[in-house]
Amino acid sequence: MIVYDLGCPEGHVFEAWFKDSATFEKQARQGKVACPTCGATKVTRGPQATNVATGVSREKSAKAAEQQAEMRAALKELRKAVETNCDYVGDRFADEARKIHHGEAESRGIYGETTPEEAKALDDEGVPIARIPWIEREDA
Ligand SMILES: [Zn+2]
Repeated sequence: MIVYDLGCPEGHVFEAWFKDSATFEKQARQGKVACPTCGATKVTRGPQATNVATGVSREKSAKAAEQQAEMRAALKELRKAVETNCDYVGDRFADEARKIHHGEAESRGIYGETTPEEAKALDDEGVPIARIPWIEREDA
């Protein structure tokens, strides 16, 4: 048995099982394969129908998934680099960033949490900070 993705002229997509491809060809030619939605017998085979129906090609969504995986990997690397090279200051981040900026604390890389308001205040004061999406570690 084989399963085919079939499409009708109305754009309906459905699956149908056949003994083999020759059986499908024969039944389709004789008008015995009908769309279950509208009953059209002029059905066509292939992924084209699926692509038209969803508007997203399989190739495209695979590419998007790949890009997402790459992005995750890059963010994980970034997190590792920050954790290795910077001091964790937790919710004292805004205070520490300010002190370092004004030379009141040892100049070093720090990381921690801050509220959007605090981050904006730091921005306004010209304190150089960066916000990165903090990805969860899978081994944590
Ligand atoms: Zn149909």
